[in-house]
Amino acid sequence: MQKIVFATGNPHKLQELKAIAGDCGIDFVLPPEGFDPDETGVTFEENSYIKAKEAAKLAGIVALADDSGLCVDALNGEPGIHSARYAETSQKRIDKLLSNLKDERNRKAKFVCVMTLVSPEGKIIFQTRGECPGEIATFQSGTNGFGYDPIFWPEGVGMSMADMSEDDKNKISHRARALKNVLDWLFS
Ligand code: IMP
Repeated sequence: MQKIVFATGNPHKLQELKAIAGDCGIDFVLPPEGFDPDETGVTFEENSYIKAKEAAKLAGIVALADDSGLCVDALNGEPGIHSARYAETSQKRIDKLLSNLKDERNRKAKFVCVMTLVSPEGKIIFQTRGECPGEIATFQSGTNGFGYDPIFWPEGVGMSMADMSEDDKNKISHRARALKNVLDWLFS
């Protein structure tokens, strides 16, 4: 079975990736100790590459990294790459977003996930982007998921992402779409 290091320090992210990937014949593993990349990029693409490059170098095998966030049209794409650090806590991040949008009528937004496969030598093997379009609600709903899920209504679903089951979210999420591209590419 081919082994690929997944560039994250978060075991939950690895579990989620494995759940989405299913029985695909790839053994995704965590990076060795000491994995602590400086996310100094200004795009999802750059940050995803920075993470994958560090993991590939440390592990000495091919690495896959993701970088993701929520881009809101009326806020010129913010919080974007700053999604994780937009405010101190998950609730404060949601409050800040809703307050910045106020009664703005254009609620269009999208979750973005860029995945990058990098060789142990630091070369990009494949890079792809998965997007999940939707809208920002004016209220919170649901208790599943994480981050901005309670205020994000994916297009055509009729509920917030936090109202969806994990299985259903994994069918339409930005991460699932990016990973599908990666697996299609690997097995094509
Ligand atoms: P990173 O990709 O680990 O740097 O995290 C990006 C940040 O974007 C997360 O901390 C969340 O705030 C947000 N985010 C990314 N994906 C999701 C999602 O599926 N649901 C809710 N928030 C998300």
